[in-house]
Parts: sequence; structure tokens; C-alpha cells
Amino acid sequence: MPLGYQRLVGAVQEAYERGLLGKGIFGIDGFDVEIDDPPRAPAPTSAAKRRGCSPRWRAAGATPSSSPLSPAVSGLFGCPTVVNNVVTIAYLPYIFGGFGRGGDAEAGIAWWRSHGTEKSPGLMPYSISGHVRAPGVYELPLGTRLGDMLELAGGWERPWKAVIPGGSSAKILRLPESLDVSMDFEGLMQAGTMLGSAGVIVMDETVCVVDALYNLLRFYAHESCGQCTPCREGTGWAEKIVARIEKGQGRMEDLDTLLGLADRAIGKTICVFAEAFCWPIQSCIALFREEFEAHIRERRCPLRAGPRAAAGERAVGAGAH
Ligand code: SF4
Repeated sequence: MPLGYQRLVGAVQEAYERGLLGKGIFGIDGFDVEIDDPPRAPAPTSAAKRRGCSPRWRAAGATPSSSPLSPAVSGLFGCPTVVNNVVTIAYLPYIFGGFGRGGDAEAGIAWWRSHGTEKSPGLMPYSISGHVRAPGVYELPLGTRLGDMLELAGGWERPWKAVIPGGSSAKILRLPESLDVSMDFEGLMQAGTMLGSAGVIVMDETVCVVDALYNLLRFYAHESCGQCTPCREGTGWAEKIVARIEKGQGRMEDLDTLLGLADRAIGKTICVFAEAFCWPIQSCIALFREEFEAHIRERRCPLRAGPRAAAGERAVGAGAH
């Protein structure tokens, strides 16, 4: 069982034991707060119907529905619902509760604002993976320069080629061109991508971008719940097309087919899963088109005979062939 999961389950159990979770917490009759076992909990958009995107949740009989316009008024089960990332909730005691500052909320807010940028104040746990010497979670001020972040994570022995800065659905950026990007909401939006989950996936020159995209699309094809045609069919077709390009069996018109498929899916589905699988397609082709075309022209992955073979390893995010 992964360490992070063990800690999460342990913390939830401890909270139940101390009376912070469960029935009648703080001794208040009827004040019940329960936490679902995280791996079984459906996504917020799907929780109301008890269906979710992954096959595990699908098997449990769940599908996503459109997000309510105002969950704070009417969300889960038609009740007022707070939807926040865990990281937001985790920081609240430090900001508004003045945690560690004698309960002084003003001091907590000032402390939070002393980090980050004016528009994106505070800290963020960035999860850095891929081609860095010391991958891990780094809590850093929002607005940290990408290049400084990667050096903090140990740097790397070969030149970097690309980075996905905000989790798998964020648009890819070229390296080293993007090393000066400010890793905050505005900076990444300005760079044409997003901070998303702050999951930073780093790729060096040995990575085949076509293969990395194929790996991402395998995930999305697996996770689509199948309700909307552009997503159900689009994820499967995109996975197959990119797989054949990577194997050297692609056609030049495949690139237009992929981009057309993305155009027809974005904004036309119940949830934002269509955007999540289309943004990687669009950005990988926009920034690395020459690599896709080389696969098709040479009828093989050109990196296998080049830097990738010399490095003697598989690409980050590379899927099985
Ligand atoms: S966009 Fe995809 S995951 Fe979301 S509801 Fe439609 S089919 Fe399901």
C-alpha cells in the first residue's frame, strides 16, 4: 500500500478516534461528518448519482452529471455543498485560523500573503516527477520560476525537452524555452497552459512525445465513463491513432484527424473530461509536430536510434507498444 495512502487512512482513523469525525462530533447531537474511503469516493460531479468515471466506480453504478451552477446553493443530493481541493482545506487553519500565530487570523492572512505573487499569493505543494534527480512533493511559493524548481528537485544530467506543468491534462510546454515561466495561475495561463493539480512531469531529450501522448491517452480511454459520444469514441480513436503513429504505421492525415476530433469534443460533453484528453493532443501536436511527422515519414520512432537508445532507457510516461 503506498505510503501516502497509509498516512491518509491513518489520519482519518485518528480523527474518528478523537471524535472529530463520525456521529455527533464535538458532542453536538445530529452534527455528523463522515469521510468516504478515498479510493471508493466518486468525483464531485458524479457523487450525486453515485457514479463515476473509472471502471471501478462504473461497476458500482455511477456516471458524472453536469456540474451544478452553484454547488454552495444546491450541490450534492440537492444540498449546499462545498467543493474544494484538499490542499485548500489543509491551508485554511494556517490562514484564517491563525494556526501557529496565537489564533490571530490577521497574522495568518499576512503570513500567507508574504509568499507568492500579488494575484496568486501563498504556497503550493508541487509534485515533481520524471527526469529530475530528486522527484517528490515540494512546498514552494506560488510564482517560483520553473527552472529554479527543477534545480531544487536535483536537476538532471541530460537536457530537458518538455514539461507538463499541471497534471496530465495541462498543455505541454517546451524546454528549455519555458524555464523562466512563473509557476502560478496567471503565469501558466500566460504561457498557454495551467497550474491544474501542480503535478509537474519533466521529460528529457530521450522522451518520445508521441509515446508519452499515447500513454496519457491510454489512461483517458480507460477512464471515460462512456456517456458522451465525443468522449467515449474520441478517447478510443485518439488512443488507437497515436499508437499506430508511434509504431510507424501512421498517415500524415492522422494529425488532422486528431485535431478535428479534439475540436469536435471540447465543450460538447457533460463534464470536462473531453478538455482533459484533448488539450494534451492539441499541445503535443502544436509544439512537437515535427516529431509526429518524423514517425510517419520514417515509419518508426526516430528517437529509438538516437538519444533514447543512447540513454538505454524508456521514455517518461511511455506506454507499452
Ligand atoms: S465527458 Fe467523458 S467522462 Fe465526462 S460524462 Fe462524458 S463520457 Fe463521461
